[in-house]
Amino acid sequence: MLLRRLLPLLALVACAAPPAEQSVDVSFVLKAGDKPAGCGLELPGLGTKGTAAHLSDARLYLGEVALIDAAGKRVPLSIPDGPWQSGGVALIDFENAAGACRGTQATNTRVVGTVPAGRYSGLSFTIGVPVPLNHTSHVTAPPPLDSVAMSWSWQAGRKFLKIELDPAGGVSRPKGARPSSSWYLHLGSTGCVGDPSHGEAVACSRPNRILVEFPAFDTRTQQVAVDLLPLFAATDITLDQGGAPGCMSGVDDADCPAVFRQLGLDLSSGRPADGGPKFLRVEARP
Ligand code: CA
Repeated sequence: MLLRRLLPLLALVACAAPPAEQSVDVSFVLKAGDKPAGCGLELPGLGTKGTAAHLSDARLYLGEVALIDAAGKRVPLSIPDGPWQSGGVALIDFENAAGACRGTQATNTRVVGTVPAGRYSGLSFTIGVPVPLNHTSHVTAPPPLDSVAMSWSWQAGRKFLKIELDPAGGVSRPKGARPSSSWYLHLGSTGCVGDPSHGEAVACSRPNRILVEFPAFDTRTQQVAVDLLPLFAATDITLDQGGAPGCMSGVDDADCPAVFRQLGLDLSSGRPADGGPKFLRVEARP
C-alpha cells in the first residue's frame, strides 16, 4: 500500500533528476586585434613595421581540454571521435583555401564534448598533441591526426600550431638563401630522438606545448580569440634572419625568441615561460 503511494512520487523525482552529462562546445576565432582575420582578408599593421599581410595558413591542435569547477578543479571534457577530434585531441582549422591559402575549404572552429552536469567557471587546454599520439604515422592515424599539412616528418611529430603569413613585398632572407614569399611559424616539439617507424619510443627534449588557462570563462557566452597582432608584435615579418624562413621552432633561429615569448614558451627549454601566452584572449561570442 505504502509502495503504491510512493511510486508516483518516485517517478516525479526520476523525471526531475538533472542530466548526468552536459554538452559543451568551446569556440575559437582568429583575429588581428579587434578585426576578423582569415584567408583572403588583408591583415593591416602586423609586426614591428606594421606590415600589411595575407594569411596563407592557420591551424592548431588542442588537447587536455577541461572546464574548471568552483573548487578550481579541472574536469576533463569527454570528446567524442569525429572528423575534427579523436583521442581527446582536436584540430582547429581556420584555413579555407581562399586567397593565398592553399589547403582545403573545410574549417573547424570548435571543440565539442561533454562534462558531468555542474557549474563551471573556467577553461583550460593545451596547444599541442600529447606524446603518445604525437609520434604516430599520419598515414594510419584517425582524423584529425591524419593531416598531411600538420605532420612534421623531419621532427617526427606534428606541428602543434601553424601560422603562415605572406607580407606585402615578401620576406627578405640572408644572402644565398632561397627567397620566400611567406613568414612561417611552425610550433612543435624539438630535440626529439627515437624512430617511431622502427618501433622506437620518441623522446623530445623541448616539448613546446602551450598551457592555457582562463580562470573566468563561460563556454556558452564567450570564445577564445587567437590574435595575430600580439603574436607578431615583436617580430619584423618582412625579415628572415637565417635558418628556416620565419620560425620553425629552431632553438638557434634568431627569429624564434620574439615569437616564442608571445607564445608563452621558453625557447631553450621548450617549457612554459613566466607570464604565459600573450596571443590568446577571452571575448564575447557574437
Ligand atoms: Ca628564421
